[in-house]
Amino acid sequence: MKVTVFGIGYVGLVQAAVLAEVGHQVLCVDVNADRVENLKKGIIPIYEPGLTPLVEKHFASGYLNFTTDAQAGVEHGEVQFIAVGTPPDEDGSADLQYVLAVARTIATYMQAPKVIIDKSTVPVGTADKVKATIASVLAQREQAINFDVVSNPEFLKEGAAVNDCMRPDRIIVGTYDDRPKDLMRELYEPFNRNHDKMIFMDVRSAELTKYAANCMLATKISFMNEMANLAELLGADIEAVRKGIGSDPRIGYHFIYPGCGYGGSCFPKDVQALIRSSEQMGYTPRVLQAVEAVNNKQKFKLPELLKQHFAGDLAGKTIAIWGLSFKPNTDDMREASSRVLMEEMWHAGAKVQAYDPEAMEETQRIYGVRDDLTLVGTKEAALKGADALVICTEWQQFRAPDFELIKAQLKQPVIFDGRNLYEPKRLALRGFTYYAIGRGDSV
Ligand code: NAD
Repeated sequence: MKVTVFGIGYVGLVQAAVLAEVGHQVLCVDVNADRVENLKKGIIPIYEPGLTPLVEKHFASGYLNFTTDAQAGVEHGEVQFIAVGTPPDEDGSADLQYVLAVARTIATYMQAPKVIIDKSTVPVGTADKVKATIASVLAQREQAINFDVVSNPEFLKEGAAVNDCMRPDRIIVGTYDDRPKDLMRELYEPFNRNHDKMIFMDVRSAELTKYAANCMLATKISFMNEMANLAELLGADIEAVRKGIGSDPRIGYHFIYPGCGYGGSCFPKDVQALIRSSEQMGYTPRVLQAVEAVNNKQKFKLPELLKQHFAGDLAGKTIAIWGLSFKPNTDDMREASSRVLMEEMWHAGAKVQAYDPEAMEETQRIYGVRDDLTLVGTKEAALKGADALVICTEWQQFRAPDFELIKAQLKQPVIFDGRNLYEPKRLALRGFTYYAIGRGDSV
């Protein structure tokens, strides 16, 4: 099948590469000319495990190509994916300008019937807007060309995106009527062999499914962070509580880890966007408001612990940070807890000496060159002469470090662990002061 993907970001590029892998002919269109040129040279704009070889293989095989030529993109695919960003507007609602710009582009150049697939995460009612936009441009062109708009939200996890797209848990398809269903089945047939993962529904329900999924996951995290904060006050250990509640199959062990707050390009913005959608309908979404408030506060947990430990005097201190990306296996720094931590440290006059396996280039891009930020090539180098070690992201390589070396390199043996990677008693025996999240009197 000939497929066009507008937007070569985390979602568009991974989806395109995976569709090429199963034999579809995919043309990706982006307004970012540098990104397109780099991809043609084999320079991949994001870090995602398994993505680079897939892109290289199918650019070479001709199944995957990149262009800035929107007209060529519209002409190419019978299926047109919209996978552009939907960042938060000033008031937190989703900014639809990029989605609607692509809709106008498709309508401007289409000469034959198309199925337009909305992959971006968009508020309920956006497919109606896309449909109306296309209809209006076609009317101006005095063209009566059939088209369908389909909602097909993406559920990939950054850090496991290729695998998630190759083996999706479910494929949600929202349609206005039966017309595009067969085409959608054909498109996703290669991913639907083991059992039927396709769930068809109306467009609005599909749009809301995506927000409901992300908001449920964010709720689990904020709930656990609230329990962790309570555990601290009550002298309990949240890690014991986590195992205790996870053993109930109605709760389960997945996604109930406490920590220093969720980040990334999706949870914060999607929770916010659903809050704004609710408010626009005159409904007060109390649970979602609490989820957001708890998370915003949790991101200050590590800075507060540091300030407490150093009795408010962080000026001139050097803070070693392990992990900058919002989660492991990605270079994405959007809304990462590490950013709140670094900014708070700088504000207090401290210096940051940090290491991340993938996100240092992105950190440098965001913050530029500054005296109080040193990015180093190994986790060991980050420790040298630092006053404390802080763990922000649970990369595998931080799970079993050489504690003797940490002790030898730090000025004082103190670890602030935003991801509960270590056993408090063991660290105490090794002579560390160890701060974790919700671990009661273990500090
Ligand atoms: P991104 O910011 O990484 O990429 C968006 C791309 O779209 C950029 O390359 C940009 O240049 C391009 N673009 C903007 N306007 C364009 C236009 N008019 N024509 C062509 N290209 C254009 O975004 P992303 O993280 O891939 O997210 C895309 C959408 O998918 C968002 O709605 C997001 O909420 C959703 N989503 C993201 C994830 C994730 O983990 N990142 C997961 C599921 C859903």
